[in-house]
Amino acid sequence: MKISFLDLQKLNLPHQQLIQENVSQQIASGWYILGKNLEQFEQSFAAYIGVKHCIGVGNGLEALVLLLKAYNFSENSEVIVAANTYIATILAITQAGLTPVLVEPNAETYQIDEGKIEEKITENTKAILVTHLYGRCAEMQPIWDLASKYQLKVFEDAAQAHGATYRTQKAGNLSDGAGFSFYPTKNLGAMGDGGAITTNDDNLANRLRKLRNYGFSLKNIADFKGHNSRLDEIQAVILQTKLPFLNSENQSRRAIAKRYLSEIKNPAIILPPANRIEEDVWHLFVIQHENRDEFREKLSQKGIETAIHYPVPPHQQKAYSELNHLSLPITERLHNQVLSLPNAPYLTSQEIDYVIATLNQL
Ligand SMILES: *Cc1c(COP(=O)(O)O)cnc(C)c1O
Repeated sequence: MKISFLDLQKLNLPHQQLIQENVSQQIASGWYILGKNLEQFEQSFAAYIGVKHCIGVGNGLEALVLLLKAYNFSENSEVIVAANTYIATILAITQAGLTPVLVEPNAETYQIDEGKIEEKITENTKAILVTHLYGRCAEMQPIWDLASKYQLKVFEDAAQAHGATYRTQKAGNLSDGAGFSFYPTKNLGAMGDGGAITTNDDNLANRLRKLRNYGFSLKNIADFKGHNSRLDEIQAVILQTKLPFLNSENQSRRAIAKRYLSEIKNPAIILPPANRIEEDVWHLFVIQHENRDEFREKLSQKGIETAIHYPVPPHQQKAYSELNHLSLPITERLHNQVLSLPNAPYLTSQEIDYVIATLNQL
């Protein structure tokens, strides 16, 4: 048997016909940027997340950059962030002219260790940018408490958490503003690049609508030095077509996660936490293994493709030489041990049987 980590053709096949019909109509309309389809998708996604505003932008990185820029924090401002997040979270902070302050994750949940945030707060700290990594919401209550104690903003990188919940609220509705990505591999994926910001703040939403479009308040009238970062009409149609299926696709990922959690019985494998299965949207099913690379190679020989999220932590990247001196042992260990198993919604029960049987044999 051959099981790829993620096959985008298979992922989109159930939606293909409807997307083709809807995109054809859109093409015939002759209107391609900032039109009715974007407005409709923004309303639908805002309603889905449970917020007042959704602002469609070019991609997930831009969503976070614009969100941070919208606040005009002073130059030396610091933003607290998990050290094991995807590099795009850190790029957003530096591209907004701010300084990332890295905090180690909890090695079991992979989320920012909320107990290690307070010691990093200085007079320059302006915000905590929380990544809901792998599809599970971070533990927000202690973060909200710290934010109110120290008057900080809270932002979410929700690029992996479309539909994930914390208590009764969805990711994207747990902070002052959240960035989403609709990169094709995400739980809600476009057929190209796309992103959005969600917020309940009217002023922020207004500012972001200008910032994504050259800073224009009216045509050719610029209030700020903006970006060109718009979610185009075709991607908006595709996302609008796929959104009604997000919950059921998340449910399929969850069903696979449940099987993995109960049936993988290999003492060398550390499974992800099983305490919040229903709230997690399982963007990635991440295990740990001490001999990760060797184990991955053995799985590959058995036809099972896996992935690593991520092989090199941001603070060890050449691009971030200013962070290279940091020692973050938990983050560094996780980057050597994490392995993502196939958990796409289209996988059959026979395919999952095979993955489980193989993992238990090795
Ligand atoms: C995908 C992703 C991003 C970036 O989104 P793009 O649309 O690729 O720019 C940011 N943060 C996290 C956690 C992501 O997974």
